[in-house]
Amino acid sequence: MADRSIPPTPHNYRIWYEYAAGWNPDLTREIDRLIASGEGFPPAVMERLHLTHCTPLAEEQALTSTSHSAESTIQYVIKRLGEAMERHADASSTLEGLSGDLVQLSKDGRDHQIDHVLHRILDVTRSIVDENHELNERLTQSAGELEEARRKLDQAKRESRMDALTGLANRRMFDAELRRESHESNQEATPLSLIMIDVDHFKRFNDTFGHRVGDEVLRLLAKVLMQQIKGRDTAARYGGEEFALILPDTPIHGARTVAEQVRKTLAGRGLVNRETGESFGKVTVSAGVAIYRPGEPLDGFVHRADEALYRAKLAGRNRCEAECDRPMMAAG
Ligand code: GH3
Ligand code: MG
Ligand code: MG
Repeated sequence: MADRSIPPTPHNYRIWYEYAAGWNPDLTREIDRLIASGEGFPPAVMERLHLTHCTPLAEEQALTSTSHSAESTIQYVIKRLGEAMERHADASSTLEGLSGDLVQLSKDGRDHQIDHVLHRILDVTRSIVDENHELNERLTQSAGELEEARRKLDQAKRESRMDALTGLANRRMFDAELRRESHESNQEATPLSLIMIDVDHFKRFNDTFGHRVGDEVLRLLAKVLMQQIKGRDTAARYGGEEFALILPDTPIHGARTVAEQVRKTLAGRGLVNRETGESFGKVTVSAGVAIYRPGEPLDGFVHRADEALYRAKLAGRNRCEAECDRPMMAAG
């Protein structure tokens, strides 16, 4: 690292440690490529390497791809073994035929020694075929176990990123996506917007109708959010009754329109108990919108969206505020 003038930060240490240990093949390949091309390792490159290869999501991806490649290696071995077994079986039946011929010849008074040798060869060939069969069965079983393990891993991975109540991205996934998209926004100079959304007077709603009904409202809001997003957007449950939308490649006025659409859709819905017909009234949300400033720390970005949300609450709720919206100043 000193030779390449790479600052000794924890992230940089980690990258080069993993490179030296050789246990992150994609990272190794990428660094080898950078060394070969002479591109060097400026801070932006180191940051990209860390983001792509050393975050929890990157680790999960590495784990999945490792189990995929182990599985495909086993499948390959099974296939080749099957081919070898077929060849051995062919050879053994040919030998069997030949040996029958020789048995006949020996009955006709030909050489008993040759007959004996051929029987031995036949026995050995058969035992090889049997062993191959057994090996093939064991490998097939291992491949099955590996596939099962990979399915469980995929499932665990999905669950570790998902909010159980709403099925949206959870806070962990939100953090990872915001990191990734802010990096992308820095690299590509594209606008990145963030909307924070909070249910209005939700405590009161819960107190009146109970937590179970409250949970249904959160599910409904999640559905509305999913309907409003597209492509690379992320809808997340930030915590409790607070939600977030990450909108890559979206200027602030675009994000404002999305926030307004969410607000209007929800405000236009009357909530009714399907079984009893009882009305739960209406649930509204307030939203705050912010735009990423290249290179800024992410907590500052989230904080600005939260501030805008707070202003929406203060201004009476059931409304959206963007960070550039300034309260009207009285003329002096
Ligand atoms: P405000 O308009 O200022 O946001 O008022 P509020 O009542 O929504 O805000 P407050 O922070 O006082 O209360 C949030 C409530 O959200 C309290 C909590 O019971 C409820 N809540 C948080 N998570 C869940 C959840 O998973 N299910 C349900 N049913 N309620 C939740
Ligand atoms: Mg609230
Ligand atoms: Mg809240």
